[in-house]
Order: sequence, then structure tokens, then C-alpha cells
Amino acid sequence: MKRFSKSFTEQPTLPAASLDAANRVLTSARLHRYQAEDEGTFEVAQLEAEFAAWQGAKYCLAVASGGQAMQLALRAVGVHHDEPVLTNAFTLAPVPGAIRAVGATPVLVDTTPDLVIDLEDLKTKIEQNGARVLVLSHMRGHLVDMDALRQLAQAYYLTVIEDCAHTMGATWNGIKSGNFGRIACFSTQTYKHMNSGEGGFITSDDPEVMARATVLSGSYMNYDRHEAAPPLRYFADAKFDCPNMSARMDALRAAILRPQLETLDRDIKKWMDLGWALENALSQDTTFELPARPDKAKRVASSIQFRIPHFDQQKCRTFCETALQRGVEIKWFGNEKPERYTSTHQHWRYLDGSKLPNTDLILATLFDMRLPLTFSENDCHDLVAIISEVANSVDAEDAA
Ligand SMILES: *Cc1c(COP(=O)(O)O)cnc(C)c1O
Repeated sequence: MKRFSKSFTEQPTLPAASLDAANRVLTSARLHRYQAEDEGTFEVAQLEAEFAAWQGAKYCLAVASGGQAMQLALRAVGVHHDEPVLTNAFTLAPVPGAIRAVGATPVLVDTTPDLVIDLEDLKTKIEQNGARVLVLSHMRGHLVDMDALRQLAQAYYLTVIEDCAHTMGATWNGIKSGNFGRIACFSTQTYKHMNSGEGGFITSDDPEVMARATVLSGSYMNYDRHEAAPPLRYFADAKFDCPNMSARMDALRAAILRPQLETLDRDIKKWMDLGWALENALSQDTTFELPARPDKAKRVASSIQFRIPHFDQQKCRTFCETALQRGVEIKWFGNEKPERYTSTHQHWRYLDGSKLPNTDLILATLFDMRLPLTFSENDCHDLVAIISEVANSVDAEDAA
């Protein structure tokens, strides 16, 4: 029997230029973002300018993590203690965690079978809670109909914070995700689309929000040493109003990231090709149900999701165990125990425990597989062959 032998958690090596830049920064011992050889060479400020240009946003702030980016964004748009903040029920722990960390109350919105936020439920919950802010988590890269979302946000004066941890480089109708809401948050944590261990970005076209986010991040009044920040006049109040949250990015991480930005488009293209190969092969077997995707949505497939709707709990568990024996690491969102990163809303006991029967039904048979850039299209075909065999053997066992 075929066994898959590549690692699901191995990253491609960093570009040689990242190692050189890291070495340069380490040798200088100028690791803080507001230190540099001379004014023109602040690594973090240059990275921010380059990311803003790549993303097509006016402003960019590099921060310590994607989670910190969300906390700063929530504070920068004025979320206060105990305020309800809407977010997707299908997301990962950093998202409700960030909302809770700023003292607000996460309100989870249901999920559709296509793994995006349910706009009907969103409408209902805005009306029920009077919420003014939505953290729209583009979980696993699945984009909701952004035209409909934008219309709804306008109609209800809803402030949208986009969580682009899984959609760096994904587009809706040719526009990069992160350019639809008031502010967007990205992660450069190792398992996202750029790798600095930990790290993140905030982007926005809103100068007031960005001035507040910058001071909140801990600029020590050095906001004049930014290249992708709003004009200085926007800091007049922010510098007195915003508490310091110390969430800056350091020069070492920026140095590692800058060369990665140069190859990001190539990486995104490869993920799209891998994802297409894998989903296309998987869709040939009717055992698997894949989320439908509108033509306008272009997904960066750093992971793959599929459901096996007729499986019960025991079959789901056996499926994952048998796949693992064949070298294929698959996570299951229906697991009642939180395992590694796959926790679900029932595991977040600090929430109000609202019932989400639609989401639960979908998550019960939903599987998740990483697709690292170290895989090839041939690997994708091998993976699908194994996954198909395993799923069918689990079914056959039952019949026997
Ligand atoms: C990883 C992730 C984040 C940000 O996480 P950090 O590890 O704090 O950078 C945000 N949202 C989702 C959905 C994520 O998976």
C-alpha cells in the first residue's frame, strides 16, 4: 500500500537574502524597530512601505502577531468593554481570543456549507445585538460574496475588520482581500503565507484609525519614523488618547520578511496550482463534498477542506487514524476534543455558549489538510489516491 512520506509541517527554506539580511541586523545589534544604521534603513518601516504597495493599501503597520493586529484594530476602531463584536463561528482561536482580550463580547455568526459566514444570520444578529463591528474571518481562505457583504455593512453602518490570516494574496473580483473593510489584519506566523515565526500587519486607507493603531502598537512617539503611516497631523490627538500596548515588530523579523515579499506572488501562484490539482482530483470521487466557490473568488490554497457528509463520528475518527497510518495528516473539526489548532466554538468556554446547530452540523464531518509549498502536483495526486482509498475502506468495513 502506498504511503505518503513528506512532512505536512515542513516549510520551504528561507531565501538566501533573508539569511543575509538577518545576519546584517544581528551583526549591528540594532534589533529594535526604531533603530537603524541611518534614517533611510529602518527595516520595519521599509517592510511596511513595501507591503502597503503590494497590498494596494495607503497605510501599513507591522506588528508582533496576527492576534495583536486584531486587538489593535479592535481598539483603533473604538471597540469598548462589553461591546458585542460579531465574528464567524467557523474560525480559529486567535479570533474570538482577540475580541475577548480587548474586553468585548464575541458574538458568533453561523456558517454556510461553503464554509463562509451566513449573511442571513449576520443580519439577524446585527438586529438582535445592535453590534457595530464585525471581525470578518476569511477562514481557510474561503471568501464570502464580498459585494453582498459590503452592501449589508453599508446598510447597517457596520465597521468591518478583515482577518486575512488565510487570504494574503486572495482576490474577490480581482481586488485583494483586505481592501474591503475599514482595516485588515494579516499574520506572518510560520504556517501562514509569509514566515517570520511570529508577526503580522495591519493595513487600511483610514488615516485616523491607522494613527491610533500606530500609537497603540507602542511607537514611543517615533511615528515620524514610519514610511507607510498617515500624515503627522493625524497623530495630534492619537498620541495623547491611545495607551501603549507594546506590539511592535522588530528589525530582525522585518529583515527576514522583506525578501519573502519579493517571491510572494510566485508562492501564491504555486498554492493556487496545488489547490486546483488537489481539489480537481478530489472532486472526481463523489464521497467528498467540496465547498462551492463563486468565479469572483480566487483562493490561495495553503490548506484544503472537504466533507464526508454521510460519515458518523466513529467513521470520521477511523478515517483520520487510517489516513495518518498512510502518512496523511488530516484534522477533523468535528472532534469533541480540541487537538492542536483544531478547536471549535464549543471549546471556547469564555463565550456565552450560544447554540449554532447549522455550524455544528457542517463541522461534524469537516476535514482539514495543510498544503505546504514543499508539496508538488504529483504529491497532490498521491494524496488524493490515498484519501480516496482510506475513505472507501472505512465505508467498506461498515458494510462487511
Ligand atoms: C493564525 C491566525 C490568526 C493570527 O494568528 P497569529 O498566530 O497571532 O499571527 C488569525 N486568524 C486566523 C483564522 C488564524 O488562523
